Amino acid sequence: MLKNYHADKEGYYGEFGGAFIPEMLYPNVEKLQEEYIKAMQEVSFQKEFQQLLQDYVGRPSPLYFAKRLSEKYNTKIYLKREDLNHTGAHKINNTIGQILLAKRLGKKRIIAETGAGQHGVATATVCALMGIQCVVFMGEVDIARQAPNVARMKMLGAEVIPAISGSKTLKDATNEAIRDWINHPEDTFYIIGSVVGPHPYPDMVARFQSVISEEIKRQLKKKEGTEDPDYIIACVGGGSNAAGAYFHYLENENVKLIAVEAAGKGIDTGESAATSVLGKEGIIHGSKTLLMQTDDGQIIEPYSISAGLDYPGVGPQHAYLQRTGRATFMNATDDEAMKAGLELCKLEGIIPAIESAHALAALDKMEFEKDDIVVLNLSGRGDKDLNTYIDYFGL
Ligand SMILES: *Cc1c(COP(=O)(O)O)cnc(C)c1O
Repeated sequence: MLKNYHADKEGYYGEFGGAFIPEMLYPNVEKLQEEYIKAMQEVSFQKEFQQLLQDYVGRPSPLYFAKRLSEKYNTKIYLKREDLNHTGAHKINNTIGQILLAKRLGKKRIIAETGAGQHGVATATVCALMGIQCVVFMGEVDIARQAPNVARMKMLGAEVIPAISGSKTLKDATNEAIRDWINHPEDTFYIIGSVVGPHPYPDMVARFQSVISEEIKRQLKKKEGTEDPDYIIACVGGGSNAAGAYFHYLENENVKLIAVEAAGKGIDTGESAATSVLGKEGIIHGSKTLLMQTDDGQIIEPYSISAGLDYPGVGPQHAYLQRTGRATFMNATDDEAMKAGLELCKLEGIIPAIESAHALAALDKMEFEKDDIVVLNLSGRGDKDLNTYIDYFGL
């Protein structure tokens, strides 16, 4: 029997998922649960979504055969170029989808949380595109260390509100966003940036990102005569770029799925974000999943050199893929990722986001056959990370 790795009606993947939310949000979330699949499947919705992906985002993103990288690892490596999307990463696929849903539900105001600012920028972008008010919550510490993205959001017309509680980072920004949502359940739509949050967000975001694997199938068929690679490799913060790259392959067990988390300074150093190794079952941001927590359930502050992977949980689908063994979870340290990022610059003339560099670092830890087909999801470009590269390499 074919196994099912998608969400069931209540938003569960095995024991993970669900919707653990304050009662005030029930009507809002239930409406979204009832509407999202129906709305997404409407012809007029799909037409507008596909048109924007093509003309505004620049899709389909190329599937690029990386010749010199392939020679180095003695196999066939393709890069799925999400780095070439408008705003520089895969996140825009999801924010376009969600803003179209928000419009359909008659919402007048958008809120979002952001850590490094990438999801905030992608949300501010689509709000400008649609002429809808945008409020982004961001930890005060992140505001200080991600000034260029704060400026981008402001230029795009968004209001950036600092989260000043707790560690003043992503999880505090998320708490502020949820608080705002509770206070404005009628007119406000919450655009979540990864496959996390209460049902239907993990499934909804995965579906919006599934354009990635849909294109890979088509593009690989043309280039290799088969839709199916041997491996798909993607980095995992919350897990949305990986979920999109896996989506149409989940039931095809011939395609091996590799998820790469950030090990920070090392798994055992206490400065890491490798949730699948260090995490235990718990509830974060409205769903049951694996998360890094103390014995009494306090969330442990994650660490990675890459702000986009610096998240204490993973989406519930990834928790399930890990638990069932459908995906193999690996991790890369800061040092391994930075080295792999620089290697891609030198071998292919592509400066990757440091998040994506974690996926690249997995290549060195794997064994390939010469004619294996490896697809690596290059989730974003490295422009935003230039200062980190400069500091790290002393450029
Ligand atoms: C945000 C981000 C990620 C991590 O988010 P996922 O939801 O795990 O995909 C990875 N790569 C880039 C470039 C990002 O901006």
